[in-house]
Amino acid sequence: MNEIVLASRNPNKIQELRELLSIPDFRVLSSINFPELEEVQEDALTLKGNALKKAKYVAMVTGLPSLADDTGLEVTALNGAPGIYSARFSGKHASYDDNVEKLLSEMSQTNERNAQFRTVVAFVDADKQWIFEGICMGKISRLRKGAGGFGYDPIFIPDGFDLSFAEMDSEQKNSISHRGLAMKKVVAFLQEWA
Ligand code: IMP
Repeated sequence: MNEIVLASRNPNKIQELRELLSIPDFRVLSSINFPELEEVQEDALTLKGNALKKAKYVAMVTGLPSLADDTGLEVTALNGAPGIYSARFSGKHASYDDNVEKLLSEMSQTNERNAQFRTVVAFVDADKQWIFEGICMGKISRLRKGAGGFGYDPIFIPDGFDLSFAEMDSEQKNSISHRGLAMKKVVAFLQEWA
């Protein structure tokens, strides 16, 4: 049995990543299983830097291979913002709704609605590190639509769809999402790595 540790304490993220990582002979642990782990400051200047920082720390402390992800919403009209600041776009303790409100307000005067979600996943074992990326391109709507998902889902319409991410069930979202695409690459890799 191969054991890997997801560098996260966020139950929603752990559940979603576990579903995406259901590979036979793999036991997927998370930071919750290791109370000695401290909170990692996500203060790198890139998604890759943050993902690597988290995975390296968890691999070092636990002695097990670790997987960490970092995601940002990159909006063309805002020169790639909020990017690495997506979680705290409207302030340190911003709610998802505060962030959506700020984004809609900053984009109220523009018809340039293109944006992409980008997920970077880092996998670190005792010897090496690997990076995987998934991108989902789409548009920022002018109004919120749908009640599912989280974060910017109610205002993100993936290209080729009329539905927002918040109007999709998790299976449909995972099949096209940034995180789903990055994790498909991770699963293919882990099957070889094991
Ligand atoms: P994280 O790196 O996965 O924690 O994501 C950082 C921030 O990006 C989150 O707090 C959300 O605001 C946003 N975000 C990440 N993934 C998604 C998604 O799939 N849908 C909507 N927002 C997301």
